[in-house]
Amino acid sequence: MSDKKDIRALTKDQLRDFFEKEGDQAFRGNQVYEWLWSKSAHTFTDMTNLSKETRSMLEENFVINHIKVDDMQKSSDGTIKNAVKLHDGLIVESVLIPTKSRTTACVSSQVGCSLDCKFCATSRLKRMRNLNPDEIYDQVVAIDNESRLYHDRPLSNIVFMGMGEPLMNYNNVLKAIDKITSPEGLGMSPKRIVVSTSGVPKMIKKMADEDVKFKLAVSLHSAIDEVRTSIMPFNATFPLKDLREALEYWYAKTKNRITYEYVVWKGINDQKKDVDALIDFCKFAPSKVNLIEYNPIDDGMFQQANDEAINMYVSMLERHNITVTVRRSRGKDIDAACGQLANKS
Ligand code: SAH
Repeated sequence: MSDKKDIRALTKDQLRDFFEKEGDQAFRGNQVYEWLWSKSAHTFTDMTNLSKETRSMLEENFVINHIKVDDMQKSSDGTIKNAVKLHDGLIVESVLIPTKSRTTACVSSQVGCSLDCKFCATSRLKRMRNLNPDEIYDQVVAIDNESRLYHDRPLSNIVFMGMGEPLMNYNNVLKAIDKITSPEGLGMSPKRIVVSTSGVPKMIKKMADEDVKFKLAVSLHSAIDEVRTSIMPFNATFPLKDLREALEYWYAKTKNRITYEYVVWKGINDQKKDVDALIDFCKFAPSKVNLIEYNPIDDGMFQQANDEAINMYVSMLERHNITVTVRRSRGKDIDAACGQLANKS
């Protein structure tokens, strides 16, 4: 590994300053910035509007730590999973999910995960490190390229539902989103981005204070503390009362509806009392429930509930005017579905 600085850690102003200090003109900084971000250049040689001298001067001072798509798997349903190699050799996964009307990138925010959800394969990897903003951005660019190549259209949506807990890598996730939404980056609308969290109350409030424009999804899975703590042990530290208070704050500030992600498991949360608690939890702020299909992670502890239980959830929620959708898994045959990302290959 080189000890030269990663040039993409510099802001545009820092790049401009760098060129000025080198006795060149500041606007070179803008040119390089454009190459690095909106044109996603992998090498200094690609930067064809710079002189040869400038390019080798950059080469002497910096590296471009670009991610590399190390392996790509295609599912029979069109889903693509990338195993992405980082500059230090660690691997994360990201997924392209095509539907009729959109192409969604599901991106990772950490190598492994800081949390310990019992039903999620990623939690077994433990957190090794946070991803840098550019490593998050690059996953999106790689998926956008694949979307154009294999599905003839650009990427339309992004969900932070890959490996990791985005709110435990808050600053870098926000910096990445800034780049993704900036006209100098990919120019995507923040309304097409969903940050999914297991629910870190303090960070949800911080996000609300910063007036972010993307959407929020919360992996709820149970609105009863005892049940939630048994499947998501960190709930003991961040109980539902705190989560609820943070979400109330989020809604008051942003006026953005909250999505709850929810898997119904046999013998865990498939009773009427579970639905009652969920309905109650949905009342304090406008929200919508996504019932996600369980993707088995080869241990016997969890099993998808039967259709009867799912139908009970749907009809009871609808009776209370709460929007509910039942989502089918995508990319299961290549371990690309929710909760299956674990660097198996
Ligand atoms: N840490 C974030 C984002 C990653 S998980 C979060 O918790 O939201 C993305 C979604 O997949 C979450 O809703 C999570 O609860 C869900 N998930 C995890 N394991 C799953 C599994 N085995 N089957 C179905 N969904 C799962």
